[in-house]
Amino acid sequence: MLKLYNTLTRKREIFKPIHKDYVGLYSCGPTVYWYQHIGNLRTYIFSDLLKRTLMFNGFKVKHVMNITDVGHLTSDADTGEDKMEKAAKKEGKSSEEIADFYLKAFREDFKKLNILEPSIWCKATEHIKEQIELIKILEKKGYTYKTNDGIYFDSLKFNNYGKLARINVKGLKAGKRIDIGEKKNKTDFALWKFSEELGKRQQEWNPKDLGSDFSIGFPGWHLECSAMSMKYLGNSFDIHTGGQDHIQIHHTNEIAQSEAATGKKFVNYWMHAAWLLFKGEKVSKSSGGLYTISELEKLGFHPLYFRYLCLTTNYRKPLDFTLEKLKMAQESYKRLKNLISELADDKKINEKYLNEFEKAINDDFNISKGLQILWKFVRDEKTSGKLGTIRKMDEVLGLDLLKRLETIENKTNVNGKIKIISYEGLNPSEELTKLIYMREESRANKGWKKADELRGRIKKLGYSIEDTEDGVKLKKV
Ligand code: AMP
Ligand code: ZN
Repeated sequence: MLKLYNTLTRKREIFKPIHKDYVGLYSCGPTVYWYQHIGNLRTYIFSDLLKRTLMFNGFKVKHVMNITDVGHLTSDADTGEDKMEKAAKKEGKSSEEIADFYLKAFREDFKKLNILEPSIWCKATEHIKEQIELIKILEKKGYTYKTNDGIYFDSLKFNNYGKLARINVKGLKAGKRIDIGEKKNKTDFALWKFSEELGKRQQEWNPKDLGSDFSIGFPGWHLECSAMSMKYLGNSFDIHTGGQDHIQIHHTNEIAQSEAATGKKFVNYWMHAAWLLFKGEKVSKSSGGLYTISELEKLGFHPLYFRYLCLTTNYRKPLDFTLEKLKMAQESYKRLKNLISELADDKKINEKYLNEFEKAINDDFNISKGLQILWKFVRDEKTSGKLGTIRKMDEVLGLDLLKRLETIENKTNVNGKIKIISYEGLNPSEELTKLIYMREESRANKGWKKADELRGRIKKLGYSIEDTEDGVKLKKV
């Protein structure tokens, strides 16, 4: 019996799938305008653990993940620049090239982190027709209105708007007036945005080509997830996942537009991963900690050390990231693998430990508890059936526990450009380590000016850098 915590009811519930033969799972995917950082990746490790737990329970999972390659504006509230257009301009490439490049990088991260690929990847730009169809239905049912800059969803026409986030709509209405432009209500959102100036954007579509009468433009960000999830999983499906930030706006709006269109319950179980934090704040440009997996690799950390770290904290609890913690995860992971490598080959299953493990993961996939059970089992000298059972447990954990450590270690640093960093007995802070790494990256890409600027920043922290045959040497000045 599998229990899952449902954000919709704020309760742990027994999981009952809609269909007998499969579970429909939809995960909000990345906006592919930059590399995904380890915060984003924690959320994808969470959906991977959920999927593996379902598979462990014998369910077939039809997993759909979207790729946002248009319409995600710099503010979630329908204002600001389109992230894809902005990146394309900055890098002097087409939006399509940007999307392809970062999607490829994202899929490589999946492989490195042992995240199972979804059954279906779907791009927003390849589903414009479906999105326009959905707007047409909403228009016909009277849920939309037009402003100067787009077609909006009238959130107060939808009964129960905000039920996921428990938004007090009446309270909002009565609250102090804020500038909402031409929108009727603060919580209304764009289904379609008109291009400000024709031909200025790389990505714009003419709805008239698709039998609609509104002006040239592009879809609002929330629309793609409703249109694509329902296309591939049906009007009602089992589980929808995403990061915590999606509860308030993105998922709230997905529910409103989907249920308004179909008159049916959109999703039975909503599940959200808590933040990866850095110094107590969500990892971000300003708080720091914004590493990518390749950056961690260049600092000598195998991606699976990061996966291990994520597995030690329950997905509903924030995880404060530091390189120190990652080092500790690395040590534990290596110790665990060393212990496993000494075990005799044994294909039997130890039912007692496997049942205990199953009980833990079926309790809203309490993976950290599952990991503790694994440790106890590995250390228990009086039991048998070890390797066979560990193989089974690893189907959920995805830690390559039966692969030899050397094969794992050899993968570390393969594409690292830093040869050796000699700290000369110093213990550099994370900020300093990151600056050194960034400088090496700039040098490798012949970005001399940027490299000099980074040298200056390192100096400000009280250190000098010497580039030697063996690599970078760090000294205190
Ligand atoms: P984006 O590419 O911005 O659409 O984000 C992709 C996913 O990563 C979303 O589900 C976000 O909720 C999630 N996410 C972003 N930042 C973090 C973070 N610091 N910790 C955990 N998840 C995050
Ligand atoms: Zn989404």
